[in-house]
Amino acid sequence: IEFHRAMSDAVFTHCPYCAFQCGMRLSRSGSKIIVEGDESFPVNKGALCVKGWTSAAALEHPERLRQPLARNARGELVPTTWDDALARIARAFIDARARYGPNAVGLFGSGALTNEKAYLLGKFARVALGTASIDYNGRFCMSSAAAASIKAFGVDRGLPFPLEEIAHAETILLVGSNAAETMPPIMQYFQRQRENGGRLIVIDPRRTPTAAAADIHLQLTPGTDAALANGLLHLLVRDGLIDEQYIRERTEGFELVRRTIASYWPERVERITGVPVAQLIEAAHLLGRAETAMVLTARGAEQQARGVDNALAYINIALALGLVGKPSSGYGCLTGQGNGQGGREHGQKADQLPGYRRLDDPAARRHIAAVWRIAEDALPGPGRSAYEMLDGLGREDGVRALLVMGSNPVVSAPNAAHIMARFEALDFLAVADFFLSETAQLADVVLPSAQWAEEEGTMTNLEGRVILRRRAFSPPEGVLTDIEILCALAAHLGHASSFSFAGPREVFDELRRASAGGLADYSGITYEKIEANRGIFWPCPAEDHPGTPRMFADSFPTANGRARFHAIEYRPPAEEIDEEYPLYLTTGRLLAHYQSGAQTRRIAELRELVEEPSIEIHPATAKLYGLAEGDRAILRTRRGAAEFKVRVTADIREDTIFVPFHWGNALAINRLTNAALDPISKMPEFKVCAARLERSSAN
Ligand code: SF4
Repeated sequence: IEFHRAMSDAVFTHCPYCAFQCGMRLSRSGSKIIVEGDESFPVNKGALCVKGWTSAAALEHPERLRQPLARNARGELVPTTWDDALARIARAFIDARARYGPNAVGLFGSGALTNEKAYLLGKFARVALGTASIDYNGRFCMSSAAAASIKAFGVDRGLPFPLEEIAHAETILLVGSNAAETMPPIMQYFQRQRENGGRLIVIDPRRTPTAAAADIHLQLTPGTDAALANGLLHLLVRDGLIDEQYIRERTEGFELVRRTIASYWPERVERITGVPVAQLIEAAHLLGRAETAMVLTARGAEQQARGVDNALAYINIALALGLVGKPSSGYGCLTGQGNGQGGREHGQKADQLPGYRRLDDPAARRHIAAVWRIAEDALPGPGRSAYEMLDGLGREDGVRALLVMGSNPVVSAPNAAHIMARFEALDFLAVADFFLSETAQLADVVLPSAQWAEEEGTMTNLEGRVILRRRAFSPPEGVLTDIEILCALAAHLGHASSFSFAGPREVFDELRRASAGGLADYSGITYEKIEANRGIFWPCPAEDHPGTPRMFADSFPTANGRARFHAIEYRPPAEEIDEEYPLYLTTGRLLAHYQSGAQTRRIAELRELVEEPSIEIHPATAKLYGLAEGDRAILRTRRGAAEFKVRVTADIREDTIFVPFHWGNALAINRLTNAALDPISKMPEFKVCAARLERSSAN
């Protein structure tokens, strides 16, 4: 602890944004907050991206919410007291419950919440409200890779090995990730991998800065990942590059996969994916002939209505090559949100209890009911997934009163205009946030919450390392932490005794007990241990256990200890292009902004970098539509239309257009995206739908 406060009054903490959770130092110089990279933190080693450098601007931002707001008789949001705000929420929840049953009260959480908050939100739903209606925005983030990992390995930890191993992998297959823009400090590991003689293959419909840095860029047609993965595996089998001994000794189910991929011969795969045969062979040989190799997937392959299949098809490659569990090798998913990993472990998911336990598992229910001191049958069953819950808002059998914590779903959900209408159909909406986000603007009550640097709590980064965010400053007067909000609300609902936590440390202590024996076992992790070690990797089942940086060395947590192959057939996206909608629309992130943009759009330096979204379009396609750089174009899908500026770039396929998703209202690209859901993960198909372009009359 002394070390972390050494040198100056700087407080060592972590960035509020992405899953890299860069270490940073925060201090004050006069009226200014100084942000510095933390060179001693072994993950980012001092590097920050522009979002991290400017993150403190949100703390004292003039638009910061500093008192609760409630809607008056004229429909305006006006300041009120905490007592009034909390009493209104409690009353609305009690009314909805009395009129429509317990599941009419809902909670929508976030992958930005600390582990303690995610845990407490899940407990609040099941204990204080008795509702099954809870899910979170992580369902829109990495739920497909998580479901695939559980099916294949029996457990889901984004990277089951430390990041450092990236630098020592001979070949890396990076799928659907623009890490150079979304988490730039990770590129130091890829850079070192190159310096060590390693090779990088990137799969992406766009020639992103990440793809431009690769040895091979497979620029596939959006939505054809499973065909591409099967095609690569076909070549690996054909050319005798798979590890038969590993397959025999450590896996099951390969024979069906071998038969399935037999029909994915290179010419067929080229026809489906648009990737030339020669490139397929070159990539397969680079992968198959490497001593050490990694397959890493991200949202490009996962945010599809067949996202689980896509991830499983890529996992099949890693298993067939005998990579999983070997040093500097394996399969991993690059998680996106700040606590995307921890956010999916502690019970804020519709189907889950703390410790990454299943809500429908009798032993899990018994264990958690005992920790929470409630009867086992008082625990509700699984609820609806995020989009299904949002789609049901205000309906007879849906949620009628909702609390949203740390999320902005009217921007981040697919088919967002429809979701906005569902929000408007609610009987009651409360939002806890620190800015008046697009979702908060619809609320009946808005609760101003503390920000990342104003409270302590743990996060779990993309490699499964549990880290500690420290409190650098006090929250502004009139603002409460999310934990204080949940405890106060529970008291209003008559559950004070189950929610009498003095602060995050006490919540973490209960989380540790709840997680004990689960897949994500935190029982041996303490704040002190995290501080002393710069983070502890889960599982960590005892205080004298060092944590588990690398998993699967000897076996997998499946019934027979083996990893499972899954035979995957390619199926086209839910919406294919046709004469009416001849272009693929895909969406993603930019360097300067983060998720729904509620924070980064308010930061002047980031706004100056990118003021508004543009449609990226290939020069040949631009010519076809009579469009030039800077023109305005109307983009139309089966869900609606929106107008954007045009950016012409040869870095995108001719049949594909790209729009970033960080803006709301008229500029929200999610108004146009498709809500077709993966049948297992319930991930919407953000990454591909059919679209058409028209010149705007504004040109
Ligand atoms: Fe690091 Fe991500 Fe923050 Fe950028 S946004 S500074 S990569 S944690």
